[in-house]
Amino acid sequence: MQLVCLDLEGVLVPEIWIEFAERTGIPELRRTTRDEPNYDTLMKYRLALLKQHNLGLPDIQKVISDMGPMAGAKDFLDALRRDFQVMILSDTFYEFAMPLMAQLGMPTLFCHKLEADAAGFVVNYHLRMPNQKMESVKRFKELNFKVIAAGDSYNDTSMLSEAHAGILFHPPQNVIDEFPQFPVTMNYAELRTEIDKASRRI
Ligand SMILES: [Mg+2]
Repeated sequence: MQLVCLDLEGVLVPEIWIEFAERTGIPELRRTTRDEPNYDTLMKYRLALLKQHNLGLPDIQKVISDMGPMAGAKDFLDALRRDFQVMILSDTFYEFAMPLMAQLGMPTLFCHKLEADAAGFVVNYHLRMPNQKMESVKRFKELNFKVIAAGDSYNDTSMLSEAHAGILFHPPQNVIDEFPQFPVTMNYAELRTEIDKASRRI
């Protein structure tokens, strides 16, 4: 039995924080772990900004819903799900992702959780476990699945290495250079071709 594990942001939907910053005109929300390596500090900073701009979960979800998935993502995913079991592994939060997952036909998603107060403001976040993408692949292998994994960035590479086959999708040049062992795909047709190729090999 084969399983395909896909990253979400940068593969099926836009980078949520970056796109959210654009749409709300709050450039400070573009800050990423590249600017602030301490994830907890970064998240507390983001949550404080949301509160400061009076953005509660319903407002945030409305903006995210309007982003929509990437062009062609739904068709790619629908076709893939006809031939494989597909799991989406992401470091985003259910409350952010759900408006987009609804537009993707509600595929299975493993990610993290936010905590909101009664007024709808996000007050905290809860990571299910560290490095959950790679850990999930490890557990699927223990369940006797052959795993093909695809992602676009640095934080996917441990998942790609753990899988029986790893594929990069539209990655930045530094990731291509540092991980020459993974085939590079730039669009959904190429990604599907590499998944099928891996499926025959593993
Ligand atoms: Mg990504």
